Amino acid sequence: MTFSKWLSFGVGGIVTLLTAVLLTTNPAHDLIADANPLLIVVLFSVGIGLMLGMLHWLLISRYDTEIRRVTAHIESMQNSSGSNLNYQPGMGLESIIEAARHVIETQSNRTEAAIGKRRALEIELRVAEAERQRADAILNAISDAVVVTDAFNELSLANDSAEKMLGFDLDQFRRSPIDRVLNDVDLSNVIKDTREGASNVPGFRRHLEHRIRHNGLDRVLDVTVAGIAGCNDDPDRNQSANGDNAGVVTVLRDITREKEIADMKSDFVSSVSHELRTPLSSIKAYMEMLVDGEANDDQTRSEFYNIIQGETNRLSRLIDNILNISRIESGVVRVQRERISLQRLIGEVVDVILPQARTKSIELVYEETNQCSFVFVDKDMIYQAVLNLLSNAVKYTQVGGSVRVSAEIHPIEHTVEVIVRDTGVGIPERDIKNLFEKFFRVDQHKKIAKGTGLGLNLVKQIVETVHGGSVSVRSEIGKGSAFAFTLPLAE
Ligand code: ADP
Repeated sequence: MTFSKWLSFGVGGIVTLLTAVLLTTNPAHDLIADANPLLIVVLFSVGIGLMLGMLHWLLISRYDTEIRRVTAHIESMQNSSGSNLNYQPGMGLESIIEAARHVIETQSNRTEAAIGKRRALEIELRVAEAERQRADAILNAISDAVVVTDAFNELSLANDSAEKMLGFDLDQFRRSPIDRVLNDVDLSNVIKDTREGASNVPGFRRHLEHRIRHNGLDRVLDVTVAGIAGCNDDPDRNQSANGDNAGVVTVLRDITREKEIADMKSDFVSSVSHELRTPLSSIKAYMEMLVDGEANDDQTRSEFYNIIQGETNRLSRLIDNILNISRIESGVVRVQRERISLQRLIGEVVDVILPQARTKSIELVYEETNQCSFVFVDKDMIYQAVLNLLSNAVKYTQVGGSVRVSAEIHPIEHTVEVIVRDTGVGIPERDIKNLFEKFFRVDQHKKIAKGTGLGLNLVKQIVETVHGGSVSVRSEIGKGSAFAFTLPLAE
């Protein structure tokens, strides 16, 4: 209680006391008679008023204090979730405390339940997110393209390979109709048909080969399209128009290379059989003529023998080349590397080819330099490569032409380049890219010389696959060609 309150209470009491003293010490009639009646009335009224006011104030002040205590207690109960029961209530306010405690307890129970639920949901969410990330990681680890569409034929999932192969961005096209995503009517129709099929036959799947154009290249895809149940992950749309919720998983595997290899193998087999059959039929025919006595004179017989010998040599070269190429390609070839002088090796090959060149009056020049280049190679293989290039140069150069061979060192690259230049028939530009393919022969050249179409492929395999070098060609029709290969120099 403040001083002012005590003061008013004290003044009220003194006034009332004085009035009472006045009234009791003097007979009423004297006092009333002597005193100013108005003063007595005022004094009495003021005293009584002050007393009543004080009484009222005392009551209000107590309730006020009590309400403050109750409020503070409710607040403390709220902070301690309604568990604080130490309050000793007075003035009949226990029911308020009880009601407040009940409300707070109920509320805190609800809050706790809500917090618990929230925590459980957060955990579920985290688990779901971890599962989603795991599924994404698995999906993206698959090298095949995977595309998942929902019951509405809209894109719901796809992995990185699919985005790259089919050229779309998942974030941009999620929930877009598959026709718009793929931009490929046939493939979109297959996916839609499979979804229809899967809604009637659970586990429905299709397997097909499909061609697409990607980055300007034709690709062959092996496509598996399978219907799956319950793949609609949008809770607002878990019923399709047909009342089912089957989606489709499409797995696309790029089999372009496998297809090419399979085609090459079958081409190779048919080319080999064809190439083997040609000299064999020739040998067979001449042998039959000899057996039937159709060669009457020695000259004809010797001519026949020469043809048979030539065809037999060709057959043996063909078989050697096929075997060498297939050994290198399959990686079973035994490479015996040694440090050799390339100049010396070229010299040996030139000596072998020289007689062949002389018969055609071709000038064969070895442009030898003082520099000596050592290479760490399989000598027989490199010998074979130089031999093939030089023999081709002589073969496809007209009588009186010239063939020059040189070995040039490139010190910066630390390589040596063997170049065989001729003044021969040259090669049409359109055929240059195919020259190193197996069995490829320039059409116009088939009349000029016999060949297997395997020599240049063998050169490429020896230089590039076995020795890590590179081959190149420049040619101008009617003017000649320059075939070259580069090898790393030995340390
Ligand atoms: P081939 O046994 O037919 O000579 P190659 O693989 O060695 O087989 O050569 C493939 C084709 O490349 C030849 O058929 C020929 O058309 C062409 N060719 C190779 N070397 C030359 C060259 N020096 N000049 C012109 N054409 C060449």
